[in-house]
Amino acid sequence: MGGAEFILAINLLVAGLLAAAFMTVSFYDVGRASARWLVFGYLLGMVYFAVEFAIPVFDNARPAVVAGFAVFLGATIAFNGGLAHKYGVAPPWVPMLVFLFAAIAAVYFAEDLPRQSLARMMAYQLPYAAMQFVGVGIVWSSRQRRDRLDHLLMAVLAASALQFVSKPFIAHALGGWGANPQAYLQSNYALVSQSLGTVFGMAIALLILVILVRDVLAEVTLKSETDTLSRLLNRGGFERHAEIAMRDAVRKGIPVALVIADLDHFKSINDSFGHASGDRVIEAFAGFLRDAAADHHVAGRIGGEEFAIILPGTNLAAARLFAEGARSAFGALPIDCLPADHRCTASFGVAELRLAEGFIDLMRRADEALYQAKGSGRDRVRISMGSKAGVATPDRISGRG
Ligand code: GH3
Ligand code: MG
Ligand code: MG
Repeated sequence: MGGAEFILAINLLVAGLLAAAFMTVSFYDVGRASARWLVFGYLLGMVYFAVEFAIPVFDNARPAVVAGFAVFLGATIAFNGGLAHKYGVAPPWVPMLVFLFAAIAAVYFAEDLPRQSLARMMAYQLPYAAMQFVGVGIVWSSRQRRDRLDHLLMAVLAASALQFVSKPFIAHALGGWGANPQAYLQSNYALVSQSLGTVFGMAIALLILVILVRDVLAEVTLKSETDTLSRLLNRGGFERHAEIAMRDAVRKGIPVALVIADLDHFKSINDSFGHASGDRVIEAFAGFLRDAAADHHVAGRIGGEEFAIILPGTNLAAARLFAEGARSAFGALPIDCLPADHRCTASFGVAELRLAEGFIDLMRRADEALYQAKGSGRDRVRISMGSKAGVATPDRISGRG
């Protein structure tokens, strides 16, 4: 067995292992459709490597060469389908399939050109390059969050595309790709070409696996940090995201404030109208908070009927206005499951982060202000002026009482 044949055998095995890896991923909900296309793509890759092995057996190699080309180009198309599903982009099936048939025809007729002609080699390699560039375009056009891994994937796909473009030149530099198709696997070029295929095939597959795992983890984290009733962050999620937003605001040198709200006499709502009605009130307040919150705000349900919202870029006065607006609007909101004239209210505590304070201090001061709001009659906003000694000085600013 020659060097290139050995690498080809390795590639066949690796494509099989990768197909199995994506098959495993496809058993999970996240990325199911994309993983299935990737399984199909890597299975086609196996067929291609098997065809390459078989080519020397045929006297007239043209059908096998064209079939091998078609199968491998089909593999890159299936791969792009998987990529498109993964990135929430409509797979460009029709253009890709039209391109597949045009490329097959081009390769079929290019077989009549002199074996070592650049045009013949280009006809074979450029379609692969084109499909890898389509892959770059799919990731690029995706509106989904793109972080370093996605950029790295685009870079590796682009490098892989350029590798296909460079292959005809590599073949020229290494003295061609065999005197005939049967001799291809004995050429030095085949050794280089198949090795490059291993490196890029592995790099791309591993990156996509890491990206799929990243997204599964993100989904699991999101679920574990989301409260099912209110669909806001739960306490743990709120604390984590609030601390990130707070540190970010401190780094930028902008103010950051915290508003805590607690529904008034909520126990009596449960007692009078039932627990299910209580749940509807929690949902109503959460929905109301979600609507009032901007994208950069962090809102959560931090207790049974207690909510918190971090307002980056907002000082105490503006946060007080926000809380005051929320208080009066919620107090006027009719709630589906309650009698038409029944209104629910909430009390609010507001604090702005002070120099050298941490998240815990801020929470404690906002909580103390909320306690003051409850103590002085409910349905009102209290702010914590803070103090160097860390003792909150709640200041009455609004309410009916
Ligand atoms: P205050 O005005 O002082 O805040 O009085 P309150 O009745 O709102 O406060 P208290 O802490 O005495 O009662 C809160 C109640 O909230 C007690 C608990 O049964 C209820 N509760 C907690 N979580 C849920 C929930 O998910 N759904 C419902 N329906 N009730 C809940
Ligand atoms: Mg309450
Ligand atoms: Mg409470």
